[in-house]
Amino acid sequence: MDHSRTIIHIDLDCFYAQVETLKNPELKTLPLGVQQQNLVVTSNYLAREFGVKKCMSVTEAKKLCPNIVLVKGEDLHDYRQVSYKVTSLLQKYSHLVERLGLDENFIDASNLVNERLKKVTPTSVPGHVFGNTTNLCDCGCGDRLKIGTQIAQEMRDEIKKGIEFNVLCGNCP
Ligand SMILES: [Mg+2]
Ligand SMILES: [Zn+2]
Repeated sequence: MDHSRTIIHIDLDCFYAQVETLKNPELKTLPLGVQQQNLVVTSNYLAREFGVKKCMSVTEAKKLCPNIVLVKGEDLHDYRQVSYKVTSLLQKYSHLVERLGLDENFIDASNLVNERLKKVTPTSVPGHVFGNTTNLCDCGCGDRLKIGTQIAQEMRDEIKKGIEFNVLCGNCP
C-alpha cells in the first residue's frame, strides 16, 4: 500500500450553529438550533445535551428542550461566506484543497509535510492519534502522520483566529 501522501480532513463542528453564534455572540450560552422549514438541521452542544439531534422536527426538539432558541437557517448566504473563508485560509497550506459540502475540507499536505521532515524529526503530537505512530511500517508514514497532526493543529488555530473577527463582510448586499 502507498502511504506517501498526507491528507488532512477538517470537518467544522455544528457549522451553521457556530456561524449564528459568530453573528450573535449572546447565543453562545443558550441551547441553539438552526431551523430549516420544520426541521432543526443542526444544534449546538447545549441543545444536544437535551437530546436534540440533527434533522429532528421542531416539535420534538421543543419537547426535549423547551428553552431552545431557534434561528432560521434557510438563507445560506452567511454560511457560504464563512465556508469559503475557511477554505481560503486552508489554501495557504496547500493548493490541493477539496471541499465537501459547506463544512468539510480535504487538504493534501504532502508537500508541506515533506518539506518540514527535511528540517525536523517530529516528537510531539497534538490532539489524539489512533494507534501507534512509531511502528506503523518502515516507509516513514509514522513521522508524516505526526507532522500532519501538527499542521492540522496550526490549521485549527488559524481558522479560529481568522474567523473570530471580520467573518461576515459588511459589503455584501
Ligand atoms: Mg461538520
Ligand atoms: Zn507506511
